[in-house]
Amino acid sequence: MEAPAPATVLPRSRHPIASRQLSNGAQKVLRRLRQSGRNACLVGGSVRDLMLGRRPKDYDVVTDARPEDVRRLFRNSRIIGRRFRLVHVLFAGEVVEVSTFRGAPDPDAQRRSAGELLVTSDNTYGTPRQDAFRRDFTVNALLYRASDRAVVDYVGGIQDLERRSLRVIGDPNVRYREDPVRMLRACEFAARLDFEIEEETLGAAFAHRRDMAKASPHRLVEELLQLLSSGRSAAAFDWMGRSGLLPVVLPEVDEVSGPSSGANSFSNLARLLDERVRAGPEVPTAVLLSSLLLPRVVVGRDRLETGGARVHRRRLQQLVDDVVADFGERFALSAARRSGMKKALDTFQRLCEEPRSSRTVQSLVRRDAFGPAFELFALLTAATGGGAEALEAWRRRAETVPADQPPRAAPRRRRRRRRRPRRRHL
Ligand code: ATP
Ligand code: MG
Repeated sequence: MEAPAPATVLPRSRHPIASRQLSNGAQKVLRRLRQSGRNACLVGGSVRDLMLGRRPKDYDVVTDARPEDVRRLFRNSRIIGRRFRLVHVLFAGEVVEVSTFRGAPDPDAQRRSAGELLVTSDNTYGTPRQDAFRRDFTVNALLYRASDRAVVDYVGGIQDLERRSLRVIGDPNVRYREDPVRMLRACEFAARLDFEIEEETLGAAFAHRRDMAKASPHRLVEELLQLLSSGRSAAAFDWMGRSGLLPVVLPEVDEVSGPSSGANSFSNLARLLDERVRAGPEVPTAVLLSSLLLPRVVVGRDRLETGGARVHRRRLQQLVDDVVADFGERFALSAARRSGMKKALDTFQRLCEEPRSSRTVQSLVRRDAFGPAFELFALLTAATGGGAEALEAWRRRAETVPADQPPRAAPRRRRRRRRRPRRRHL
């Protein structure tokens, strides 16, 4: 058997990571594991980001200690996961994830039919090298070793960091078939890090784009939320277009992307969402997900209102229901998420109309969905250049309607036929 290529080891003097840069929690976990004689390393996004001079989102630790041993070392910890058990060590404002080095998956434990590579069970422990080779991209597989503070690279990740290139570890054709979510992660990381996707990694995504249908919808939507809240979604959608994923994963975005869609172009909306994300505060999930559906809702409404026809409000709600139901089914969204999106988009539709009375204003402004709906309205206003005055009016109304006062008692309802079409701002 051929001997494996030696790892590249950068001693502490030859890489930019200083241990005091690590979060308190990460430092404590590494120290405690070391003190009990364990091998412990930082791994994944935190090493990658520190190498690039970026602030890590969170810290992952790998060790040769088993989950039960880690659990015993940290009072403030709990074991999670069924497929692969890991330990969450909880600190004030921080969770450090500790996993045991993983080995190659045991072929006997796989549930799959001939020709399928989807990994369904992988609860085997292994060496640091095996663990590195199971990871998705070379730049995500670097280790920062607590014992000597060296950066250890088994997969060529240091070179790829220097080239600013995102490359799947191993054969991307195999790795994507094992786990199609990796294709979406490639687009997300390339965008976030401002990297190129290496040629084979990109080409294989195109070849296997249809496998996205086999991916777990729950994981897909979590990756999608990461992508939308990264502040770099426009670039990620670009990569999804180039890799052929966009029409498969998000047809609603694909149909309004590209040069032919002109003012409707989604990249405009995505860029504005990115600005909003970067400006903070955190954008609610309902807004992130509903922004994907905004073009379908607006185009659908325009179609219904062709020729100035007055469309019954129930019909507009039905439009939102249909658009959300389709998306919700594809991504197996929880009832709570679907309902949040529906309420945000319904209320958004209402904000697009001139309110008929101060009572209407009060009841809309007091809705829980007013905030998300207002955000969607603001996004669309910025993207299309229309509706700025109405946006300002809603902002003023939201400031002047006291939040703690119950709405005035409704006067007795008199049924009146409305003949005028509702006036629309947007
Ligand atoms: P982020 O900055 O978003 O946290 P990250 O690289 O840490 O980026 P995570 O989703 O937190 O990404 O995953 C942690 C690490 O686990 C990754 O860096 C990678 O090494 C590994 N990993 C995650 N998902 C996969 C996957 N689908 N296949 C193989 N390895 C994965
Ligand atoms: Mg991470």
